[in-house]
Amino acid sequence: MLYLLLSAGGAAMKLLSIFGTRPEAVKLAPILIALKGETSIMSQVCVTAQHRGLLDQVLDYFRIRPDHDLALMERDQTLNALVSRAIGRIDHVLAEAAPDRVLVQGDTSTALAAALAAFNRRIPVAHVEAGLRTYCVNAPFPEEMNRRAIALAADLHFAPTPMARANLVGERLRGDVYVTGNTGIDALHHVLAQPERERGLPPLDPAKKLILVTCHRRESFGAPFAAICAALERLAARDDIEVVFPRHPNPALDGAAPVNVRLLDPLDLPAFITLLDRADLVLTDSGGVQEEAAALGTPAVILRKASDRPESLAEGAVLAGTDPDRIVRAAEVRLDGSFPPLAPSLAYGDGRAAQRIVDVLLGRPIEEFEPARDRMRQIG
Ligand code: UDP
Repeated sequence: MLYLLLSAGGAAMKLLSIFGTRPEAVKLAPILIALKGETSIMSQVCVTAQHRGLLDQVLDYFRIRPDHDLALMERDQTLNALVSRAIGRIDHVLAEAAPDRVLVQGDTSTALAAALAAFNRRIPVAHVEAGLRTYCVNAPFPEEMNRRAIALAADLHFAPTPMARANLVGERLRGDVYVTGNTGIDALHHVLAQPERERGLPPLDPAKKLILVTCHRRESFGAPFAAICAALERLAARDDIEVVFPRHPNPALDGAAPVNVRLLDPLDLPAFITLLDRADLVLTDSGGVQEEAAALGTPAVILRKASDRPESLAEGAVLAGTDPDRIVRAAEVRLDGSFPPLAPSLAYGDGRAAQRIVDVLLGRPIEEFEPARDRMRQIG
């Protein structure tokens, strides 16, 4: 089936991209940039600003100017308050903008609200980064539930990897699935191609091994986060290791301040990517960061109990959960020379995902992303 975005009279079709957080902006930016060159799609952007500051950093970097800004963020917002306000406000935008299709990304509350609001108005939904699953509905929470619900509302599923496609096919969803690669890898390529990425980097001790940390998942709040901090303190106590932790500004994580760990404000994307590239190891519970780490060949210890990105584990990352002993052991194995160096991985994408997505939206034929074939090309 072709998803031609030309309306009956041949006029450009209206595509409304709706998002609200940093990772959605990073992963939709390459598509929004690719859409700028397409006259048969009238692209509009609506942000909920579920996370104001972090979102704006990415919007500024990619020079994205939203057509609708719902400014929904409130301190200590609950999921239900956020989702209900988002559905109500997005519904007004849908009524006013009357898009022919809505584009959402990933698994956030904004993506869920936008998909549901569009579905209820019978507006077709395209889902970028579809098909990631743990099949454990509480991990990641509430993202696993969000991503599965969005798949029910969508009729066009852009799976980043063959594994994600296999999940979607197994669920017998309606609509078509295309394997595109992850647009986050396109964004990574974009950043790596820019000069002056170093601005905003903290000074680093070249004599020490660098561990970069990110941690912000809702299911880690409280005791799991305290356990992760205990592991960070043990690693930071070694005089050959520097631990750098740009913190997500979530009030629920405010209290804990692990000793000897350099806590930073969130870095802008180029500075963060530069640090991730330089790091000897990343400890993270983030989805996007583990994809970027794999693409850069930076070893990763995943601070989650269940993984919706098994590709990382096949590429040398390890799922350590939140137990301090497991985290420290996994980190030390990767730092002490007994672990083989990792090559940059093609598992998540080849940097051409956004163009594939735009081509599908325009009804053009695409060559789907096949990591195994691309690896053969790289070797050949
Ligand atoms: N990131 C950033 N600055 C930071 C930490 C992360 O720009 O200080 C970027 C990172 O490169 C990745 C994205 O934010 O592209 C990941 O976002 P997050 O961890 O908030 O969300 P998740 O990927 O877990 O959904």
